Parts: sequence; C-alpha cells; structure tokens
Amino acid sequence: MSESSIFSRIYRGEIPSEIIAETENVFAIRDIAPKAPVHLLVIPKTDEYRNVVELAAGDPTLLTEMIGLANSLAAEYADGDFRLVFNTGEGAGQTVFHVHAHVLAGGLSEGNLR
Ligand code: ADP
Repeated sequence: MSESSIFSRIYRGEIPSEIIAETENVFAIRDIAPKAPVHLLVIPKTDEYRNVVELAAGDPTLLTEMIGLANSLAAEYADGDFRLVFNTGEGAGQTVFHVHAHVLAGGLSEGNLR
C-alpha cells in the first residue's frame, strides 16, 4: 500500500477541511494559505499522479474533469475568470506530490502571479 498524501487524508476525513465541491473523480477545498481573494484547490480523488505531466500522459480525461470543476467553481466563487496553476517539481514550489490545481480568482492582478 502506498503512503497517503495530505489530500487523500483530507478526502477521507482524517484531516479536518471542508470539501466544497466534488464530481465523480475530483474534489475541491479552500487553500489553507490563500494567495488570492479566492484560492481553491482542485484535486483528483486518486493520488496515483504526482504532477500534471504524469496526469496528462496517464489520464487526460481526469485532467479535463479537473478543469471543468475549476471553471464551475470560478463562476460560483468569483466572476468566472480564473488562473489555473500546477506547480510541477520542487524547484517550482511543489510541496504536495499528489497532483492538484490551484484555482486563483477574484481581483487578480499582475502582482499575485502565483
Ligand atoms: P506550495 O506549498 O508551494 O503552494 P503546492 O503546489 O504543492 O506547493 O501546493 C500545496 C498547497 O496545499 C499549498 O498552497 C498549501 O497552502 C495547501 N495546503 C497544505 N495543507 C493544506 C490543508 N490542510 N488544507 C488546505 N490546503 C492545504
């Protein structure tokens, strides 16, 4: 059995966090350290993909499901416009190696690029 990521533990209810939305294979939470007025995380329920490159190669349909949920959430929590960020690799600031999309929205400017 593989080690569980922090996001898998959140989905199972082992770490407190509100699941704000979910689809068949994807769920969303609020980022605990928001970098924009709206900062959500869209996460596959499976933790088998470490980053978006592995996900795109292994299950592009799941990546499409993530983008669809991000789009719905940006309409629900902001004005519909959003920035989608996938930190990929330690050098890019990735700390959790269970692929997740940062959905940044609501009053974005050039000053909050990440
Ligand atoms: P970074 O930490 O540099 O943003 P990642 O792209 O791997 O790297 O993002 C992990 C994200 O998970 C961070 O934005 C962090 O704030 C968020 N996070 C960590 N723990 C929790 C938690 N318990 N609940 C919600 N968000 C969390």
